[in-house]
Amino acid sequence: MNRWTSLLLLLGACASGVQCTSPHVPSLKVPSCDKGRGSVQYDKSVPNGEGKFPLTKVDVCYTTTDIKITFTALEEVNYFYNENYTTNDPIYEYEVMEAFIYHGTNDPRSYFEFEVNPNNVTWQAFIYNPSKVRAAGAPYDGGLLSQPLADGLVASTALDRKAGTWVSNASLPLGLFNVDDGQAKGTQWRMNFFRIVVSPSTFPTQQLGAWSPTNMSNFHMSPFFGHHTELVLSNRIRIRWISILVNLLITTYLDYLLRMAKTQSLLTIHTSSLFDSRKKRFASNISIDVDTSTGLITRTYERSQSLPQHDVSSSNTVDLRGLTVLPGFVDAHTHVFLHGYDETPSLNQMRDESLVERVVRATNHAKDALMAGFTTYRDLGTEGLRDADVHFRDTINRGIIPGPRMFVATECIASSSGYEIRHENRIPGIGNDIHRISDPADGVYGVRAAVRRRIGAGADIVKFYADYEKRRLRFPAQTWPGAKRIQFPPSDKVFLGGENPVFLLFTQEEMDAMVAEAKVSRAPIAAHAESPEAVIMAAKAGVTTIEHGGIPDDKALDAMKENDTIFVPTLAVYDQELRRETSFSQSGVHEFQQILAHTKAAYDKGVKLACGGDTGAFAHGENMRELELMLEAGIPLLGILQAATLHGWESCGADLCGRRFGSVEEGYAADIVALDGDLLQDLGALRRVKFVMKDGQVYKVPQIWITPTFESATMDIIITGATGFIGSAVVRRAIETDIVRHAFVLTRRSLPDDVSRHSKITVIQHNDFCTYPLGLLERLAGCEACIWCLGRHGNQFPDKRTARIVSVDYPTAAATAFMIHLAPWLRYGGRFRFVFVSRRFAEWDDNKPLLFDRDTRRMKGAAEKRLLALATVSRGRLNVSILRGCGIMATRGGWLKSKFAKMMKYIAVDDFAYELILLSAGISSPEIVEARELLQYVNH
Ligand SMILES: [Zn+2]
Repeated sequence: MNRWTSLLLLLGACASGVQCTSPHVPSLKVPSCDKGRGSVQYDKSVPNGEGKFPLTKVDVCYTTTDIKITFTALEEVNYFYNENYTTNDPIYEYEVMEAFIYHGTNDPRSYFEFEVNPNNVTWQAFIYNPSKVRAAGAPYDGGLLSQPLADGLVASTALDRKAGTWVSNASLPLGLFNVDDGQAKGTQWRMNFFRIVVSPSTFPTQQLGAWSPTNMSNFHMSPFFGHHTELVLSNRIRIRWISILVNLLITTYLDYLLRMAKTQSLLTIHTSSLFDSRKKRFASNISIDVDTSTGLITRTYERSQSLPQHDVSSSNTVDLRGLTVLPGFVDAHTHVFLHGYDETPSLNQMRDESLVERVVRATNHAKDALMAGFTTYRDLGTEGLRDADVHFRDTINRGIIPGPRMFVATECIASSSGYEIRHENRIPGIGNDIHRISDPADGVYGVRAAVRRRIGAGADIVKFYADYEKRRLRFPAQTWPGAKRIQFPPSDKVFLGGENPVFLLFTQEEMDAMVAEAKVSRAPIAAHAESPEAVIMAAKAGVTTIEHGGIPDDKALDAMKENDTIFVPTLAVYDQELRRETSFSQSGVHEFQQILAHTKAAYDKGVKLACGGDTGAFAHGENMRELELMLEAGIPLLGILQAATLHGWESCGADLCGRRFGSVEEGYAADIVALDGDLLQDLGALRRVKFVMKDGQVYKVPQIWITPTFESATMDIIITGATGFIGSAVVRRAIETDIVRHAFVLTRRSLPDDVSRHSKITVIQHNDFCTYPLGLLERLAGCEACIWCLGRHGNQFPDKRTARIVSVDYPTAAATAFMIHLAPWLRYGGRFRFVFVSRRFAEWDDNKPLLFDRDTRRMKGAAEKRLLALATVSRGRLNVSILRGCGIMATRGGWLKSKFAKMMKYIAVDDFAYELILLSAGISSPEIVEARELLQYVNH
């Protein structure tokens, strides 16, 4: 069509149209989201804008990839929607907010329509409206977008019934409008915003409202679309903004606006069971807003019950419903530079391990602790590394390595020779000196100076030894095998350290002076104290915490109670030394029982407890052991959780430490962990940490959620079994999704032409899946993952031997070859990801009698076991994920079919295939995922 014809057509449309004069339409300047947002509000009804309509606000801004629209319905009373409606159902019969969007300046004939309702259900379509003004019977057509989440159209909606509002944050990809990423600046748009209000009593009669009201009860009239210019905020506009802000001050929306101004860094977390560490109880249906730029919680609120099933694909929403959610755990007594004494005794670690080794080990420790849900470490002494913990702390705070937020003590203070390694025949200056392990100080002035040295070195917390075991840290150890450890004085009657009973290192005056000096420096102070005398003296002096305090004594408990001292009983290190290191000897077990009883007595007396295991004496990452031992002591779970969160913060000095954490509330650090399952029913959940956030940054997510992080990930993968039911779906999804850059298909049989000729696919004929020649592996170099779909049902094999070769030997051989030859090529520490398709009820136990599908279940079970074992011994080069399928349905089907499938817990093969691809893109530890778990995350 040449230019003249199209112009004539336009004139023709005008001549026959209802209205030719352009209405006056409003305009709005829209900045990029990091600069602010364009805001409009309207309370005019459609048609003509004459009637009154509930106030409605719309905020618009753009990022490099999306248009962000925040719809705010104010003066809402109905919250009326049909809860059976899902994506693209006619939600506009009830209450919705809408945007009509067109990239360009003319009155459009085709545009995009987006709607969202209070149930966060969306409706989205490209509308073709050739008449521009849709008179009755005017031609009108449209195409629905059937996969909004996959397309990147995301909404998150929150209701606040008390305030009479509902707010929906929507993200619309610029790509929908043929605007390339990063190209939004300076573009011009036409848009209109609408809202439909429906009351249950008058349904289906609707009240309509618009930013630019049309002249009929009809939204589809593009001459009424307002003008938008996408601009960077210039000075002139900034002045305009200030005046808008002043206006809003007057209209009391300032508070709201300030909140909204941060939307681009706002993350919303939905929970169904959240621990309230102040009230010691679990609360239901709480949502948490997090500002990821400050790492703080900005708001918590009770949510309307009816969020959609799937809210996880949005990059600014985290759905933790179904999990047990708590504030990040605080380990109140750690030594990040120590590793388990069962690996190497502490003396040998301090003496023999190089600075580099100890720091490298600490790097692993920090990560392990964080992955175990511990977002704060109160690290009480470097044990021979002087002030190195200060710098280690800072590498974490600067984001160089992942780890818990650390509060460090540098060296601990002890009196002369009270806490030091005694090395026989050591002459100072000759041979290797052993590092000192404490900062020795004596006398009131001396200890004051020591506190100042610690603060000056960068300590967050001061730690001193109120007592210690006499002559304990001696080197070398006795060589005569019959000898006990050093005994002084020899006695079997003394509790704890019977061979080396504890003695006081400081006088009351010295302890008082250290506490006073710490207070001057506004630092918390911890006392290592085991004997009742030392506990009582330190508590009287006013220390923040008592560490260990294990020798049972009522007066010691009273002293802590009276002085409001926090008690850190370090049960885990006692467990380590009394039970584990003595192979659960009778006397060790007995002593430990007394310590448990003493801790329980402290709790019952109302002494405040914090959880610190002396972690380092046993493996970092095993930090939950302390909580488990408190359970063993008989302390109620909720009390323990409070000890491990809020009291942990208090042991760090509470507000003295400069950050609030240990509780999920406004102004506190967004340290949030989620445990798999219901902790109240299943204490084992403590060890199943599925999600970890520290300071608003996510460090661990369940595997099935990796969608947001991998939006732009591209990787090369290997697929087997590509001619089968699941495998062929995986190949097709791999072609569709951006996650996969290229797929190498290993196959015996040929694939359909459209697949095998696709530019993203390389088909490699491979006949023997037991061997992987070097030539083949060279072609596969660079592949990060393999999705193993090869396999058959048990009864499809000619005999058991063949079944075992195909089901077990093939995948194991492949995983081994890929681990050895492909992992070294990879980034991220060279971890090859092997995703194995298994089935539900896969059975690991070969001897267990099975009623149905015996062979398949055993074969799958055997393969799972072999693969996971391989991953375990791979030293981090292989990651195995297992997706257990069940009830996989051939296609998505229609609405009715998918409802049925959902009810019957079936999953579409397409969705299953996509989850396999997501798993193959994930970086995490070996894990088995049941297909059923996926259902709640799949958008039917
Ligand atoms: Zn310690």
